[in-house]
Amino acid sequence: MDFIEKKIEAYALEHTSPESPVLEELNRETNAKILYPRMLSGHLQGKFLEMISSMIQPQRILEIGTYTGYSAICLAKGLSAGGRLDTIDINEELEDFARGFIEKSGFGDRIVQHIGDAAQIIPNRIETYDLVFIDADKESYLKYLDLVWPKLREGGFVLADNVLWSGKVVEAEDADRDTLALREFNDHVQSRDDMENVLLPIRDGLMLIRKL
Ligand code: SAH
Ligand code: CA
Repeated sequence: MDFIEKKIEAYALEHTSPESPVLEELNRETNAKILYPRMLSGHLQGKFLEMISSMIQPQRILEIGTYTGYSAICLAKGLSAGGRLDTIDINEELEDFARGFIEKSGFGDRIVQHIGDAAQIIPNRIETYDLVFIDADKESYLKYLDLVWPKLREGGFVLADNVLWSGKVVEAEDADRDTLALREFNDHVQSRDDMENVLLPIRDGLMLIRKL
């Protein structure tokens, strides 16, 4: 399901600052060589992530779900001087592919890849994060939120991707496990009084949460 009309999306892209050559190549190479290229954030969402990060000017970013590194590079563009982004992915086969583009992007010294299950890796991180991007397995979103919340500074932000799940969160008929998990995640966020949140219907839905 497309959320916005093709014509509108094309117009939005035409009026969005262009994709950098490295991101364009990463986008193209992911589509040519890697399984499930639809998972890559893409230019419109990528530019939005870059903007959000530039507004926050974080020292520490945590990303859950590196895939080929597209969103990591976008988010890293907003880091303040001396800042760093930790990114976690369970798929070791993507590590070198992502690394190549991270180096090419010029963020090689500021993006640290962690390979393994995020649920195992997050508890070992001793950082305080200013921004967290949740974009891994949908069934674990709530678990990841619980794990990162104590490590997020007050006033810090969490962004969670794909929270509309191609619109399935609002469909009545028998929901699959991912849909149920995302509904539970969205409802949970909405019910917490230490979270201020806005669900942005950008691409597949982005939940933006501020820690009160
Ligand atoms: N953030 C990327 C897309 C991420 S796709 C972008 O916007 O371009 C989701 C990724 O989550 C996949 O690469 C998958 O390997 C990873 N993933 C799935 N389960 C995971 C887990 N338990 N721990 C860490 N990463 C996981
Ligand atoms: Ca995603």
